[in-house]
Amino acid sequence: MKRKPPPFLWGAATSSHQIEGGNEHNDWWAWEAEGHVEGGVRSGDATDHWNRFREDLQLAASLGLNSYRFSIEWSRLEPEEGLWNTVALDRYGEILSECERLGLLPMLTLHHFTSPRWFAEKGGFTQPGAAEKFAAYVSSVIEAFGLRIPLWCTINEPMVLVAGSYLGTFMPPGRWAPHLASQASHQLLRAHVLAYDLLHSQSRERKGPWKDWPLQVGIAHNMLDFLPDRRWHWAEKVLSRIFDRFYNRAWLDAVTGRKQHFGVVGMIPYADQVQEARGRKTADFIGINYYTKAYVQWRPLAPAHKASAQLPVGVSFAGRKDKVFSDLEWAIHPKGLTRMLAFAGGYGLPIYVTENGIADREDRLRPGFLRSHLKAVARALADGIDVRGYYYWSLLDNFEWGKGFGPRFGLYHVDYETLARKPTKSAEVYRNIIEAHRAQGDGSPRVEYFRS
Ligand code: BGC
Repeated sequence: MKRKPPPFLWGAATSSHQIEGGNEHNDWWAWEAEGHVEGGVRSGDATDHWNRFREDLQLAASLGLNSYRFSIEWSRLEPEEGLWNTVALDRYGEILSECERLGLLPMLTLHHFTSPRWFAEKGGFTQPGAAEKFAAYVSSVIEAFGLRIPLWCTINEPMVLVAGSYLGTFMPPGRWAPHLASQASHQLLRAHVLAYDLLHSQSRERKGPWKDWPLQVGIAHNMLDFLPDRRWHWAEKVLSRIFDRFYNRAWLDAVTGRKQHFGVVGMIPYADQVQEARGRKTADFIGINYYTKAYVQWRPLAPAHKASAQLPVGVSFAGRKDKVFSDLEWAIHPKGLTRMLAFAGGYGLPIYVTENGIADREDRLRPGFLRSHLKAVARALADGIDVRGYYYWSLLDNFEWGKGFGPRFGLYHVDYETLARKPTKSAEVYRNIIEAHRAQGDGSPRVEYFRS
């Protein structure tokens, strides 16, 4: 008998610190208190999702979604080293039960940029043994409710985390320290591999509505379409290729056992390879977080500014010719998603678009953004690329890291005075797209639909 293909996953994504509120035990909370966020803003209660999760999941389900990607907060579960907060574990268990009740297949992220303060104070992922500390946390999560979850992202955007923390100034501890960047990459890959093995070694029977789904573990990897700022400029052409290689490929090569380019974050030689990952595949899928393109600029004489002051290169998310941008001045560039899907398809693993979205306060560009990027997914599928799901970032407006609450990515608008949620026009657009697809076959995006 032919088995029915698993349905295409139509989802939306969030992360704990950006929506929950009250994450006082993590490194970002401390970073915010030091005034690093624009306007001195702090995450505070964020969207109060910690208390309003039922309402939010209901909103997700009412769009017709069949999956939801979210993260759990390590610092909540282990506020002090070795001390487990069982009340918080139970709350995540309730969130999961609510997903099960509403038919939202959970994709769980174990680390989305924030770390417990006790861990960060000892050097975060640069400390020896960081991966083992992370693995202890993962074990307790597995113990509590792991058997109910089919899809896992171990680490969200390891490349961004490392670059933001040790090559840039936009994430704690905000230092320029290439050797630490290299160490952090090394430990993050080890952390991923340990988590991968722990998840795959669960010996007991899986539980819940998705117990028959294959267990799939991967990372959510940020990808950018790197282009030379000036097409004729040889240095910019070479640099954009180098950026592509290190930023887009290095992590994917590492988790598929192809090659470890460490220091993965740059051209930093770091001989010490991660033995545990050598020559073996430690990902069951590739998660792509795709937003925009990046123009690489050669500017040896540019005035020093922030992290890139150390290098004679700059990166801009919009070019001279781009006319339409998001509120963050990121160009809208669905072609880049097509390219990234084609490239990732070459690894022969299933792909999920684990994030794709736009900051658009007025919700003017988002409907078109959604359609054009889903069309890219449909095309990739028609070309035989194994895309299994799409998660819009984000379900609701939230705390956008160093930019505070200004940028609005949500399908649901949040009024930060009253915390009331209101659907945007795009929510309706997304719901209609999903409805039109889910009735047919495995429900995946079809090119014909986006032609009209
Ligand atoms: C991150 C999200 C973030 C989004 C928009 C992604 O890189 O995973 O946490 O909100 O981009 O900036």
